[in-house]
Amino acid sequence: MYTEEVFKRRNEIGGSIEVVCGSMFSGKTEELIRRVNRARIAKVNVEIFSPVADTRYDKSALVSHNLNSIPSKTVAASAEILPLAGHIQVVGIDEAQFFDDGLPQVCQTLANSGVRVIIAGLDMDFKGRPFGAMPQLMAIADSVTKLHAVCVKCGQQAMYSYRLVPNESQILLGEKESYEARCRNCFNLDGQI
Ligand SMILES: [Zn+2]
Repeated sequence: MYTEEVFKRRNEIGGSIEVVCGSMFSGKTEELIRRVNRARIAKVNVEIFSPVADTRYDKSALVSHNLNSIPSKTVAASAEILPLAGHIQVVGIDEAQFFDDGLPQVCQTLANSGVRVIIAGLDMDFKGRPFGAMPQLMAIADSVTKLHAVCVKCGQQAMYSYRLVPNESQILLGEKESYEARCRNCFNLDGQI
């Protein structure tokens, strides 16, 4: 019988993919932590995975720019996630742009087996180019939330991560000493694209 109770349980076990994307300083990790914390309060098994490439903070915890933290597991490759996610109902993935190309398939497999997958990542690199597997993840997601930072030059909404130091490598870990958030106009003024 299709009672409200059954409907509720179906919702609880229904899988999905949520992507939270944006530039640096847009609050992506903060939003990931907020969503995962709500699941924890609801007594749902949660796990957050971070790529080994991101070593800026404590390796056993996910820490946002404003220093909220939540336990997380660091993995070297997306293939390590499935064996670790056996009894997990909500999987969080931080800094998804640093993962390998296998991540979208891993997320599909999780979602198709009833897991709620929440992904946070940079949608663009410092040149404004789509970053890593983020375009694929956004395409297969049930929902996409694009967050914005504030342009440090003019105060408008910012969607670019402007690199302040001369380095052409796509991956350069850093914070405010290396990057600033800029809007489209201010990003283009200094000719990074
Ligand atoms: Zn601006």
